[in-house]
Amino acid sequence: MGCGREAAQGELARLAVVDGAVVFDAARHLPGRGAYLCPRPGCWERAVARGAFPRAFRRPVDVPAEPLHLSI
Ligand SMILES: [Zn+2]
Repeated sequence: MGCGREAAQGELARLAVVDGAVVFDAARHLPGRGAYLCPRPGCWERAVARGAFPRAFRRPVDVPAEPLHLSI
């Protein structure tokens, strides 16, 4: 998602959905489909603008209005 650059999963933040809302899965342990986003500034907004979240999770999801603080 986001800029679409190729990156190893280890360089990307794993996002998951809990109770219908996107969360940062820092421990990479949450069940279900995950989506990977690079933590660079701007990529969250790009992903939102492209509708990448529902596409990645293959269902409607609540996306936090403020970008989550992603760290790896
Ligand atoms: Zn990016």
